This record gives sequence, structure tokens and C-alpha cells, in this order.
Amino acid sequence: MAQHETDYLIIGAGAVGLAFADTLIDEDPDCHITFVDKHAKPGGHWNDAYSFVALHQPSAFYGVNSMEFPSEQIDTHGSNAGFYALASGQEVSAYFEKVMNMRLLPTGRVDYHRLAEFTGKQGDIATVKSVLSGEETQIKIRRKLVDATFYQTSVPSTHTPSFEVVGGADRTIPGELPNLWKRSDDLPEHYVILGAGKTAMDTGTWLLNAGVDPSNISWVRPRESWLINRADVQPGEDFFEGLVGSQIAHLKAAATANDGAEMMRMLGEQGHYLRIDPDVEPEMFHFAVISESEVEQLRRIKNVIRNGRVQKIEPGRLHFDGSSVDVPKDSLFIDCTARAVPFSVSEGRQKPLFEDGLITLQPLHVPLVTFSAALTAFLETNFPDDAARNALAIPGPLTDTPASFPLSFATNMMNRGNWSQNPQIAAWLTKSRLDATGPTMAKMAASGDTRLAILGEFAGAAVGATKNLTKLAAKAKKIHENT
Ligand SMILES: Cc1cc2nc3c(=O)[nH]c(=O)nc-3n(C[C@H](O)[C@H](O)[C@H](O)COP(=O)(O)OP(=O)(O)OC[C@H]3O[C@@H](n4cnc5c(N)ncnc54)[C@H](O)[C@@H]3O)c2cc1C
Repeated sequence: MAQHETDYLIIGAGAVGLAFADTLIDEDPDCHITFVDKHAKPGGHWNDAYSFVALHQPSAFYGVNSMEFPSEQIDTHGSNAGFYALASGQEVSAYFEKVMNMRLLPTGRVDYHRLAEFTGKQGDIATVKSVLSGEETQIKIRRKLVDATFYQTSVPSTHTPSFEVVGGADRTIPGELPNLWKRSDDLPEHYVILGAGKTAMDTGTWLLNAGVDPSNISWVRPRESWLINRADVQPGEDFFEGLVGSQIAHLKAAATANDGAEMMRMLGEQGHYLRIDPDVEPEMFHFAVISESEVEQLRRIKNVIRNGRVQKIEPGRLHFDGSSVDVPKDSLFIDCTARAVPFSVSEGRQKPLFEDGLITLQPLHVPLVTFSAALTAFLETNFPDDAARNALAIPGPLTDTPASFPLSFATNMMNRGNWSQNPQIAAWLTKSRLDATGPTMAKMAASGDTRLAILGEFAGAAVGATKNLTKLAAKAKKIHENT
């Protein structure tokens, strides 16, 4: 059996593992890193994405700290006009390949076992199995195992649907839609989108942009969702007051609301959160980011089916728990039900980031997963022990609903507060491209930009919110722990 040695063995060469390694390799110039990943290329689930997927947040603060995306300019056309560009899925995949091949591997301090599965560890010896040959390799871990698989990403092309497909119902996945031109003499007369998340929204937008009449689309939306207004999450000086202003609005809502649902309703009324159907109370919030013009577009789809989760599809009929709905016989069912990342505690329970010999990469600022991974590498290399690191790294829960949202918001605030008090972290943040505010504030401070005055208002709002936010977060925690 082949044998290797390494300081850090990272399971997963997706966005999170790469962001961690990218910072670690600079902060600890002596360390050796080994990646093991089942995929054939770096980038994790981005390798399996549908062709019209894009980041829903600006590329400018996604990825790894050391490398920019080719497109970080402001878009001048389309539904993202006026905002910083969103890399396409293909661009994200190419970016992560570049991070591995042009940044990490050339250091000579990184090994990459592709098409290989981590199967376990005994003492300090990990076993890695080749996906194709089954051959096993042992890797001696000199320092730590790094688990970069916490998010257990699930996308349409790789997930197993939780509903039955019977009678030859025409089920497809979003990635197949661009191939419809190949069956132009046998096109479906109707399209049924299954799912309420961002993939379903992308699919609705794609169908409408492709010219499908909205009356020929039905949309199974078990829950309505609150969506982050993309205007609120723009980097750079010109958007700074808007971004901080949105956080102030959150704090003011948190200071008076009775629960998370009310907090989000207040923020929704102010335009910080959007929803497709203004008449339906959202019961879901998965941190998806959208522009007002995309929402306007999606509102054109009027056939919305709200009978819960689909249990079974057959030609011309959808079955739900206790009900069924007829749709045109020749419908194409588009499966957008993969859950992306786990929003329930039963699927992904938080644990300390730093344990003896193990780092489990989790959100430190929800939902900024690559920023969180990079900061974790900084904590690993610059703080003396796991107790000191964990004190600065409270794992942020991926909450599922408006009711549980105050828990992730309060955790973000707590971590941010702690980091701002720590001179080492505060200095690192000013240089981190993955932090939407750090470098901007440093630049504005250097030029004496008076727009920084809004930070005084932020500090006041934070003090005013503390008492009630603590209560909201406690309520939200109980709800979150039952999901
Ligand atoms: C469609 C979509 C769009 C998103 N857009 C954004 C966005 O705009 N902004 C944002 O911040 N987040 C976004 N996210 C959420 C999240 O940031 C990304 O999904 C991110 O790429 C997740 O990276 P990851 O490394 O955690 O997971 P993955 O991409 O799933 O990578 C994990 C890797 O681990 C490997 N692996 C797992 N188990 C093993 C094992 N036992 N042995 C070997 N290898 C293993 C897998 O093969 C995989 O390659 C999006 C998510 C989805 C699904």
C-alpha cells in the first residue's frame, strides 16, 4: 500500500477546502497540505451544476482570498444591472481549477488526490481509496485532519429525489433544459417546476427568458421564501452606506420585534428582503440573494401550487400528502428539490470548529462559507490553542425559517463583535477580499471618507438591540433545534 505524509489532510477540494488551504499556505509557510476528493476536478458541487447557474452574490467576495475573479466589475445590462457581477457556474469551476493548478500545486507544498475517497482514520493514519481502481493509500497526518464536507451539498444532478416517478412521467433536471432544442419536434406543452429554492427560481427565470409563455408553467412551491435584496450585499465604497444601513435596519428590527417572523416582516416592508408573492407569509429563509427585477420576472408565473411537498408524479398529475393536482398530460416535471446545503439540525449539527487533531469547517458568518473557511485557517495559524481559537469561532447555524433566523443573525453579530476587539483579526479583515466590508473600510479610512460616519449609528443600534436580540435568539434556538 502506498504511503504519504502531510501536515493537514483536507477532505474535500470544494470552495470551502480551497479557501481554507489558500490562507493556510500563506499564514504557515512551512506546512504541507494534502487534498482528497471524490470529484475528478477541484470545485466540488460546481462540477455538477446546471449550465445556467451563477453565484447569487457578487463574485468580488467569493472564492479564495488570494485570487480575484476575472469579472468583478459592475454589470451594465440584464437583471443584475448596476450591481457587481455574478460569476457563472462555468466561471466558478474554471476559477477553482486555477486556484488548485496555478496557485496551490505550484507551491510544491500541496498534494491532490483526485477521484479518491477518504474512508477513515485510525490514530494518525488516514486511508484514502481510489474511486476508479479501489487501490488504497495511507496518509500519515502530522498535524490535523480538516473536514471540508460539513455542508453536504446536494444539487439536482447528484441527489436522489424524495418523490416517486410513476407511469413514465417526464422528469428532468435543470441541467437538461438547454438540451430541449434537440427535441424541437417533441417539446412538452407544459412545464412544472418542483421546488421553492434558488434553483427553482433560476429555472423559472430561464424558462421565461427562453420564451416560454408563463401560462405554460406551473410551480410547486411548498413554502414561500424571504430573499435577500441583492442591493444590500454589494461591496465597495459606493454601496457602503447601503450595506451598513441594512445591518442597522436589522438591529433596529431586532430591538423591537417579538420574534424572527416579525423581524423579517419589518425588514421586508423596508425592502431589505423580497418575496415573490406579496400575499403569502414566507415560512422559509435560506439566505438566497435576488434582485428586484428577477422577482418581478418570476411574478409572471401565476400557476403556483401550494399543497406541500410533492410525493409522487405521474403523467398529468401531481400527488401530495392527502391531495393531488392535475396538470396537462404532456408536462415536463423539472426537479429542483435538491436542498443545496442542510438547513435542519438533524442533517448537520454544529460542533466546535477546533477539536483535538480535527478542524470541521463551518460558517462563522452565515452564509459566507468561503470567508469563514479562510478565517478559520487564520485562527489555526495565529492563535496558541484550540480554546483560544474556539472562543473566536462560534459556529453559525444555517437556520431554515424566519422564526429561527435571529439565531444565525445573533451569532454573526457575536463573532463580528469579538473579531473587531481582536487587533490581529481586525488587521486581517482589512486585507481579506472575502470580507465585503474590511478592505472597503480600510480604504475609506485612509482617504478620510466621511461616509464612514454611519459606523457610529451602527454602534448605537448594536447597543440598542442587544437585550431583545438575546431573547429573540433564545426563542429561535429552540425552534432551530427542532428542525
Ligand atoms: C447552486 C448553488 C449556488 C451557490 N451559490 C453560492 C453563492 O453565490 N455564494 C455563497 O457563499 N454560497 C453559495 N452556495 C453555497 C456554498 O457556498 C457553495 O455551495 C460552496 O461551493 C460549498 O462548497 P463546499 O466545499 O462546502 O462543498 P462541495 O462543493 O460539496 O465540496 C465538497 C467536496 O467534498 C468531496 N467529498 C465529500 N466527502 C468526501 C469523502 N469522504 N472523500 C473525498 N471527498 C469527499 C466532494 O466530492 C466535494 O467535491 C451555493 C450553493 C449551491 C448549491
